[in-house]
Amino acid sequence: MTTFPAWDDGTTTTTPDHQIHWYDDRTAIIRQALHTNFEGPFIYLLLGSERALLLDTGTGHIDLRGIVDGLLAGRDLELVVAHTHGHGDHVGGDDQFDTVVGKSAEAVAEYFGITAWPEQIVEFDLGDRVLDIIAIPGHHPSHVAYYDRSTRLLLTGDSLYAGRLYVFDWPAFRASVARLHGFVAAGNPVDLVLGTHIEMTREPGVDFGLGSDVHPGEHVLELDPAVLTELAEVMAAAGETPHRIVRDHFIVFPLSPAGEPL
Ligand SMILES: [Zn+2]
Ligand SMILES: [Zn+2]
Repeated sequence: MTTFPAWDDGTTTTTPDHQIHWYDDRTAIIRQALHTNFEGPFIYLLLGSERALLLDTGTGHIDLRGIVDGLLAGRDLELVVAHTHGHGDHVGGDDQFDTVVGKSAEAVAEYFGITAWPEQIVEFDLGDRVLDIIAIPGHHPSHVAYYDRSTRLLLTGDSLYAGRLYVFDWPAFRASVARLHGFVAAGNPVDLVLGTHIEMTREPGVDFGLGSDVHPGEHVLELDPAVLTELAEVMAAAGETPHRIVRDHFIVFPLSPAGEPL
């Protein structure tokens, strides 16, 4: 396992507009700086022997295309641009790229060959690097998680990270968390869970304010797989009525369809 960098906490606006961390020689993590947009999303670039998969395009406030072109320079790889889900802070840079997998659940299912959404788990091979794609709607209708067999990383997008897990569809989210945990429990070991934001502080259960673009004392990006087990347990026990659940490393945060906290 590699050591992650100290991510830019947004308190200095003169820092670069992004950071790049190579987790290993085929896995790059890009963080869009908080001063470019308070969402500060994390973006993943996974390299196989034939294809590179870019997961998310951020908010559109940085030259992601230039960054990705630089990372892929000298490599003969087809670039596939797809998403964890279709929210604006993850698709904002789509227009920088020539071809992008669509944002709807239908488009995602069609591209990856999922014929029984969301139950069917499919493989996607980058060339000597097989990913499993698990549909996990609930935060967003087209949300998918990516499990990388080679690194044992589980990329969970906005459905599990150290922050507020906004749940728009409570029943779907409960089913998705159970499905994702079931996939792992069925014999797919996870080293780390990596999401697409950080909104928690290092103090257990304490988050930064909504829309905060400075994160002094920010929680780390990486989560132990036990946190997925914890999420599965609390969602299984949560029942059918949406309600907020505060835990050390995440806050389940249900919202109405209009985006109002429940
Ligand atoms: Zn989202
Ligand atoms: Zn997001």
